[in-house]
Amino acid sequence: MKRTAIWILGFMSIGFAMLQTLDATSVSATTLSKRVLCSTFPIYQITRNVTQGLNSVSVELMLPAQLGCPHDYALTPQDMKKLSRVDVLIVNGLGIEEFLGAPVRKANAKLRVIDSSTGIQEVIRYAKEKDNDHGHSKKIDVMEKPGRTHSPHDEDQHQQEGINPHLFTSPKLVARLAINIAAGLAQADPDGSATYAKNAQQYTDRLNTLTDDFAALGKTFKNNRIITQHGVFDYLARDMGLEVCAVVQAHAGQEPSAAEMLEIIRTAKGKQVAAIFTEPQYPARVGQTIARESGILTATLDPVATGPENAPLDYFETVMRQNMVILKETLGTR
Ligand SMILES: [Zn+2]
Repeated sequence: MKRTAIWILGFMSIGFAMLQTLDATSVSATTLSKRVLCSTFPIYQITRNVTQGLNSVSVELMLPAQLGCPHDYALTPQDMKKLSRVDVLIVNGLGIEEFLGAPVRKANAKLRVIDSSTGIQEVIRYAKEKDNDHGHSKKIDVMEKPGRTHSPHDEDQHQQEGINPHLFTSPKLVARLAINIAAGLAQADPDGSATYAKNAQQYTDRLNTLTDDFAALGKTFKNNRIITQHGVFDYLARDMGLEVCAVVQAHAGQEPSAAEMLEIIRTAKGKQVAAIFTEPQYPARVGQTIARESGILTATLDPVATGPENAPLDYFETVMRQNMVILKETLGTR
């Protein structure tokens, strides 16, 4: 009798545990139609905005949220595992995911890749010679794989080579990325297309407001000449009418030589640059030294290349508005 009672209790608890498990995973077990993996934190945040309200779609981040720009990143076995079990991979494109390539195809032959930068040159019209090589000008094999949204021999694809890939600090370009991601997801998952389109529209409305606010702020600065840590703010600077006179790291992640530092100091003095903006992703020491030697200000701007796990959906906008305050305090207004 006692044994039966224990058996029944045991059975009930197993049943209860099973029910709980079912409850927690019922969405993924029964109705999940698309598993989406995003390469970087900015792409992940845009995709979360575009897919919100769709329980049938799971969105996962491939690289650690705190990694930032994936310079010199190498694929891990965990990344390969993630790639093997998703339907869609969304990338920044323009060569920033140099770590992807042939192994991706090996991990998942059916993977559909959405290149969020598709057609971006229509928006940026950024001359190749204006773009210092910031370390990601190489094309990558992942764009050549089956399931990509455009042909490998597209003329526009060739024209994208050498374009600065740091699209994600410009609200104006983030809006375009959101539209591209929504369009790519609609192809991959037609059932969700109306929701993707609606979400992308709402998100781009907010981003366009942010774009206008940055442009308005840019007109008020006393001095619009700046130096940045690497090429991450080039598009935002252009949106605001700021002139990036030099970058501390000509190749992202690589500190300048003594000769390069002297050249940057000469530029800072000669062009009467207002300030050097360092980034939380890299040590500020070299930028601070150059600022001190040049007699100019220094402050930190966050390119939102990193963020907390489970960041709020409006995290980009919040941090960019904090950047506006820092720019105002550092550059001074007329
Ligand atoms: Zn970078």
